[in-house]
Amino acid sequence: MNENSFNEAYILKYNIGDFVPEENAFYHLCKREECDTRFVGRKNRAYCSSVCKSRVNNDKQFERQLVVSKQMSQLKKNQLILERLHQENPTKVQTKFLFQRGFDSEGVRRVVKLPDFGGTWFGFGNYAIQNQDDDTT
Ligand SMILES: [Zn+2]
Repeated sequence: MNENSFNEAYILKYNIGDFVPEENAFYHLCKREECDTRFVGRKNRAYCSSVCKSRVNNDKQFERQLVVSKQMSQLKKNQLILERLHQENPTKVQTKFLFQRGFDSEGVRRVVKLPDFGGTWFGFGNYAIQNQDDDTT
């Protein structure tokens, strides 16, 4: 079956999702939001063409890269906040003080063990934080 073949008469005759006996296939509306193309194809086919399919995949890839780049800028911001607050070794600050400055402990971080200080620390670049029982970091 040609990828682009579609009989306009099906629009009146069938609903989206219906089986079309003439084609031994199903009537679809392309799942790419910006596309309004109707087509017939196998039951689980989602897109009218390989162009739409790859556009959707490219958009997903773009979204993933956007998430990564947002996480990277948050990591840079976190590092900068810790760098500015850092005075002695280790520095104690109230947790809310960090968050008020835009610190976000989710996303890019690593768990580090610091033999000199004990416990679990979360590393952000050159700095690491540890939550204390008295609500300081
Ligand atoms: Zn399409």
